[in-house]
Amino acid sequence: MKEIYQFYDELGPTKIVHVYEPRIGLKAVLVVDNVAAGPSVGGIRMAPDVSTEECFRLARAMTLKNAAAGLAHGGGKAVLYGDPKMPRTQKEILIRGLANALRDIKEYILAPDMGTDEECMAWIKDEVDRVVGLPREVGGIPLDEIGATGWGIRHAAEVALGECDFKLEGARVVIQGFGAVGKHAARFLGEQGAVLVGAADSAGAIYNPRGLNINQLIELKAAGQSVAEYPDGRKGDREAVIDMECDIWIPAARPDVIHADNVGRLKARLVVEGANIPITHDAERMLHERGVLCIPDFIANAGGVICAAMEYKGACEVTALAAIEEKLRHNTKLVLDAVRQKGILPREAAMELALQRVKRAVSFRRWSVF
Ligand code: NAD
Repeated sequence: MKEIYQFYDELGPTKIVHVYEPRIGLKAVLVVDNVAAGPSVGGIRMAPDVSTEECFRLARAMTLKNAAAGLAHGGGKAVLYGDPKMPRTQKEILIRGLANALRDIKEYILAPDMGTDEECMAWIKDEVDRVVGLPREVGGIPLDEIGATGWGIRHAAEVALGECDFKLEGARVVIQGFGAVGKHAARFLGEQGAVLVGAADSAGAIYNPRGLNINQLIELKAAGQSVAEYPDGRKGDREAVIDMECDIWIPAARPDVIHADNVGRLKARLVVEGANIPITHDAERMLHERGVLCIPDFIANAGGVICAAMEYKGACEVTALAAIEEKLRHNTKLVLDAVRQKGILPREAAMELALQRVKRAVSFRRWSVF
């Protein structure tokens, strides 16, 4: 295992908490990265193969995402060792155990991530108050159900189109990953006249240059089927989604799906990153050199965490969606202005924006630990 201290820098992490309770099989790590802007928000990731290093990298990503989004929150993340598909009663014991272990870590607001959901957050709420991503019944805004991140992607795409030579109306869209992010991005862009021509999930892909019916695809997924079961189109394996000709390509599945060895296959004019780190930095640079505009992940996919921050403030769904729209449009524009004025990559502009905000927040503090 790499020595965790090698990652320490001027921003953090401010606190790392290891949780271990063998009697219930609880093993977890919390990394609170930077809290200059306010208590950290970041999800609890549950998986058998998580690590302290991964937790730190995810916490830092949240510091940057929250700062870029202009939220009064720093970045943190927790990882919980275990199979998220374990029996419900066993999972509930672990989640409640973790909530209790973190009861006094006031710099961290608990939230969902891969392997945890709104039901888990409701169990946490029953133990401690600092939690977001709750079900409606206990005052939450179910961000995946309403498509908070997809809503933000729509607005980032609209602003990005100001730099492109085509319109959203009639634009051909391809989406990799048809889950909480991908299906809502398709729905919101479709409502603006874009045409979904291709989609993929983990089981396969479907392509039809005349357009796919988005509601029918959403129904297929809700019935537990793959988008590849869609009746009218050319089926392929999930990798085929990289080769589909389109105007807007939206990765909304796994990390590192586009890299230096396959980026040449991408035939899009605009990429809006819904997933976290879906494109390696090398590949982003290569896209930029080819004139393909790429809106970086922590700018484009901030809708979910903005929604969570609004929920924490007690805002309603309508206010949360309005905040996502306003912040995504504003930040995408700031990034694109910097790209134009300084001749830098969108990711470099996004990093500058986020770091400048975190560092300014740090400058107001006596020191970063509470
Ligand atoms: P999800 O589990 O709801 O959906 C993921 C989708 O990707 C599924 O359709 C799955 O079948 C598909 N998929 C998995 N592997 C694939 C592959 N190799 N090729 C094609 N499709 C594949 O997850 P989600 O919440 O939609 O999150 C998707 C990504 O977006 C993740 O990287 C997540 O970290 C990121 N993200 C999510 C949110 C949010 O609000 N949910 C916010 C910001 C970032």
